[in-house]
Amino acid sequence: MTTMPAQPSAQTPIAASDVMLELRHLSKRFGSTEVLHDIDLVVPRGSFTVFVGPSGCGKSTLLRLIAGLDAPSDGRILIDGRRVDTLPPAARGVSMVFQSYALYPHMTARRNIGFGLKIAGGSAADIEARVARVAGMLQIGSLLDRKPAELSGGQRQRVAIARAIVRDPKVFLFDEPLSNLDAALRAETRVELARMHADLGATMIHVTHDQVEAMTLADQLVVLNGGRIEQVGPPADLYRRPRSLFVARFLGSPQ
Ligand code: ADP
Ligand code: MG
Repeated sequence: MTTMPAQPSAQTPIAASDVMLELRHLSKRFGSTEVLHDIDLVVPRGSFTVFVGPSGCGKSTLLRLIAGLDAPSDGRILIDGRRVDTLPPAARGVSMVFQSYALYPHMTARRNIGFGLKIAGGSAADIEARVARVAGMLQIGSLLDRKPAELSGGQRQRVAIARAIVRDPKVFLFDEPLSNLDAALRAETRVELARMHADLGATMIHVTHDQVEAMTLADQLVVLNGGRIEQVGPPADLYRRPRSLFVARFLGSPQ
């Protein structure tokens, strides 16, 4: 095995079997503007990886590429060892929760949660059982007959999370799912996301522009700036040993 000189944003290598998601030389252009530049990243199986960075740095674009909602201009995406960048979203084994929740307004919570399973051709009895199980887990069992307009912001967000869980994805993608909640509910939901991660043993990628949220949730923190990865590692390492002034300032490291 050859050893490579350490890159500024190089990650500690891990065994191939421990890798859930791999991004290689990923870039994205809109017209002549490149908004993601040569992104290389490994997301370990079962990790809680948080992408953090200021507004406009490319967090949502990166999640959309992973989810398959947008196509990369260059590079490749592998999930569980399989190249997925040419596959449609439904075939990638990912579930995404959006900032706006993106629930269907005319459907009850029950139908919103089960919709993806129905499209995939699940039986009514199986869908009902799986919806009931995740609704119990997120404590929304009594709200299943309501439509989104009859739910509070926090309840809608739980329905959106339930819809992601019920499909049993390999990778969860969360695009600022807490940013529309008030401070108390945000803190409560942070705890719940951490518990969900522990219970499901799932691989989670969570996007936020909030440093506190990033530091509390992440076991792997990815700091983005202007479409590039500034630094990757455990949050405490980045806080104590920031590699750039940007990371130090962004995480509020002592200087
Ligand atoms: P973040 O989620 O970190 O706030 P985004 O990924 O939404 O950032 O955006 C990154 C950059 O890409 C921004 O400059 C934004 O204006 C630009 N961008 C995002 N989507 C499009 C698009 N569909 N067309 C053109 N530019 C876009
Ligand atoms: Mg965004």
